[in-house]
Amino acid sequence: MFRAIYLEQNPDKSTQAALRELDDGALPSVEARAVTVDVAYSTINYKDGLAITGKSPVVRKWPMVPGIDFAGTVAASDDPAWKAGDAVILNGWGVGEGHWGGLAQKARVDGNWLVRRPEAISAFDAMAIGTAGYTAMLSVLALERRGVKADAGEVLVTGASGGVGSVAVSLLSRLGYRVVASTGKAAEADYLKSLGAAEVIDRATLSAPGKPLQKERWAAVVDSVGSHTLANACASTRYGGTVTACGLAQGMDFPSSVAPFILRGIALIGVDSVMAPKTLREQAWARLSSDLDRGSLASIARRITLAEALETAPLILSGAVRGRLVVDVNG
Ligand code: NDP
Repeated sequence: MFRAIYLEQNPDKSTQAALRELDDGALPSVEARAVTVDVAYSTINYKDGLAITGKSPVVRKWPMVPGIDFAGTVAASDDPAWKAGDAVILNGWGVGEGHWGGLAQKARVDGNWLVRRPEAISAFDAMAIGTAGYTAMLSVLALERRGVKADAGEVLVTGASGGVGSVAVSLLSRLGYRVVASTGKAAEADYLKSLGAAEVIDRATLSAPGKPLQKERWAAVVDSVGSHTLANACASTRYGGTVTACGLAQGMDFPSSVAPFILRGIALIGVDSVMAPKTLREQAWARLSSDLDRGSLASIARRITLAEALETAPLILSGAVRGRLVVDVNG
């Protein structure tokens, strides 16, 4: 038997979420390369908040065990690439949306979806980083591929006190970039400076409708907010600069114009963590292992239990969570 957060759909299409004891036989079947994992930690990501509350139709199959990521140890494997005892991480691939996920003591997944956990990163730290932190690393890799060097100028990080934002601030400042953190939480200015932000700005300066071209400031931007924030960030990106977009905390819309692209040659790069190819995942985790100040994770992450995960899921949707929530599924 194992404990899991279990989501069912009510006849009125609302979601019912409860903590349940499930039989191992209930684990989903996987066509080939099935790997059963003893989960140690999972997390509450924005998408998990949507799944648990039912606020947005991210769950594609019922009943569902949510949790888009986990770190754990292989218990049994039909995949020759994995053996019992291997330390693994999973991010995305539709897990927690269309296939049972990590907010449980056990998971069964396709071996191709797993990444080996780097030795230097503990299971707890892997989930303190989680999908948000791994996406922050994908964003940094995208800036590097565009040749954005540490001395290029100021880098704006939006949604800075959130999961993606916190890790992006920490990573970029460690790599030598001058980071400007945009937040709606004035009280978190000291936290963001402790992560390495050189300056903290009020997100209200970015979140209202703005002009298509504004004073050039940013050499690069890591955005997880979308909507007017992303549009204003593009409008104030310097000639030839690079903006990455991975999230929609403010909104799915992008009320911009072509002006920053055709007059300033800026680039907008989309970042997706869910279907990212395995080699890119391995590169991101290797770089997280070598480049992230793991000391910063103590202030970024807070440990909660599976039962607490149910209660805190709505908070992430209201933008009230600082940093990352790591779920100790055995706690
Ligand atoms: P969090 O909720 O931890 O952080 C989001 C942050 O955005 C908040 O903490 C807040 O930061 C800011 N924010 C929230 N609401 C608003 C608003 N209305 N207007 C402006 N800013 C707002 O989420 P994550 O960091 O985990 O994820 C951020 C986004 O990235 C989500 O949309 C998520 O779905 C997406 N995502 C996408 C991935 C991908 O593969 N593309 C992977 C991971 C996440 P502050 O108070 O500091 O302003």
